[in-house]
Amino acid sequence: MRKYKQLFFDLDHTLWDFATNERITLNQLYDSYNLKSHFSSFNEFYERYVPINADLWALYRNWEIRKTDLNTGRFHNTFLTAGLDDVEMAEKFSLDFIRQNSLKTNVMPFTFDLLEYLKPHYTMHIITNGFIETQKLKLEVSGLRPYFKNIFISEEIGAQKPKIAFFEYAIKSSNAKKTESLVIGDSLEMDILGAKNFGLDHVYYNPYSIPHKEKVFKEIKSLNELIGWL
Ligand SMILES: [Mg+2]
Repeated sequence: MRKYKQLFFDLDHTLWDFATNERITLNQLYDSYNLKSHFSSFNEFYERYVPINADLWALYRNWEIRKTDLNTGRFHNTFLTAGLDDVEMAEKFSLDFIRQNSLKTNVMPFTFDLLEYLKPHYTMHIITNGFIETQKLKLEVSGLRPYFKNIFISEEIGAQKPKIAFFEYAIKSSNAKKTESLVIGDSLEMDILGAKNFGLDHVYYNPYSIPHKEKVFKEIKSLNELIGWL
């Protein structure tokens, strides 16, 4: 007898390999925008971009900046570190990035093995913090969409993980019972603490074994550990 009936998966970094896809897209744009005349290497550009992007995302999550400030700002600020002050270029770069990145199809190891294994036994949903158009495109193009009944996107719901309102909306809309629901995600802060605070069992996918002190229901290093456990 299976304990769970409904599974709620995070998308970015849990199923869709965000880090790989983002790096490939940025590398392509680095070339097409001829950024080598401003940076010494792609790695230098990328290493400056990563923390700038993370800081702006944190501000966006707290409603301190708007979506456009995040999208354009992360590139404008990265360009500024090389003395390149060009907002228009940052805007165009951002649009190209969003469009091209959403079309990338790399997924985390064992994603499709796991989904095929789970498909006959569970109703599955996506719970993601992100933008409607990009998340939907990623799901379609990567072939993930058919596995999921509902796609819950923070921009559509008007609340982001780890807010209880987000989880409450997803559970209610799926007609799920909390005791029969399981959340699977890679973010301790957003997926795991969010699920915990709302009283849902959860699996922390921690592929790089990042140390932490949080008490979690279950932790895995690879998605294939769920084959057999579920
Ligand atoms: Mg994630």
